[in-house]
Amino acid sequence: MKKHNFNAGPCILPKSAIENTAKAVLELDGIGMSLIEISHRSKEFQAIMDEAVALFKEQLNIPENYQVLFLGGGASLQFCMIPFNLLNKKAAYLETGVWAKKANKEAKLFGEVNIVASSSDKNFSYVPKTYTIPADSDYFHITTNNTIYGTELHTDLDSPVPLIADMSSDILSRPVDVSKYAMIYGGAQKNLGPAGVTFVILREDILGKVERAIPTMLDYRTHIKEGSMFNTPPCFAIFTVRETLRWIKSLGGVGKVYEMNKAKAKLLYGEIDRNSMFKGTAEKEDRSLMNICFVMNEKYQDKEDAFMELAKSRGMVGIKGHRSVGGFRASCYNALPIESVQALVDCMQEFEKMNA
Ligand SMILES: *Cc1c(COP(=O)(O)O)cnc(C)c1O
Repeated sequence: MKKHNFNAGPCILPKSAIENTAKAVLELDGIGMSLIEISHRSKEFQAIMDEAVALFKEQLNIPENYQVLFLGGGASLQFCMIPFNLLNKKAAYLETGVWAKKANKEAKLFGEVNIVASSSDKNFSYVPKTYTIPADSDYFHITTNNTIYGTELHTDLDSPVPLIADMSSDILSRPVDVSKYAMIYGGAQKNLGPAGVTFVILREDILGKVERAIPTMLDYRTHIKEGSMFNTPPCFAIFTVRETLRWIKSLGGVGKVYEMNKAKAKLLYGEIDRNSMFKGTAEKEDRSLMNICFVMNEKYQDKEDAFMELAKSRGMVGIKGHRSVGGFRASCYNALPIESVQALVDCMQEFEKMNA
């Protein structure tokens, strides 16, 4: 049976990216060797790395004065690398979910952390809008998409200090004005590729301003200087990222992908709002295009397992909500076809006919 992959991450990837990666694992471009058995210093791999960086710059419209790095350690290592490299005295953080909290926890090891606003009072079901960013902060950190709670910042904020964004779960899902950010980063395993590679887009002029010594591997300048090859990079994962970027380009770019994402979200949120058995958990204006969270209405609380069973029988995978929200979460990343969203909507309608 066809599966509809709503996994939150790792998650669905473009079919072409998976097929081309599979081929390259068997043999890379007729060179008689596998992608995973060649040197990262070979001209073949260098070409893959160069194209991945170039496509990233092209597709996200990244200005000249920014670097694109592919590192290890996941977004979680960035939670500590950011303050290590950038926090002198004070940093400001917007707290919009578990990932945002994990980020500010690490920063507290390096200096004073100012949580300018938090939506923890309502289980992170909204994105705070009114707060002041202290002008003497070394930087302001945000999480643009809150994967667990299904909220998303839909605009590029103005910040009086360098703006740093965790875009793990919405990178390349919409056009972004990169020039408004000093740094954008994330794990690749949600919209870009397999687990194992982390992307970092940064403006070099923010570096070199802290007094502490930074271990070589944790210093962004090391990786800039060595073109993400100070040590062996995650070659396999970078290959798939390149394939995903090629796919985005073939569709007509991020603007096109954004239109597709909006259409998918509209279809599913429309059904959540219409269907008498379900309701959304996130504040409407902050609803994520990527992670769509919903629960059963009070009256039907006991039907949750039954809906899960029906959905499963129709091929839905990964729609169980995170334990801190409950209910359901349908992650609708770039590669998810609208047909899968339609299949879920059909399922919800069928369930309503059976039960309401
Ligand atoms: C998944 C996720 C992370 C964690 O990424 P890792 O690469 O596993 O460390 C961080 N931030 C956000 C917003 C995420 O969705």
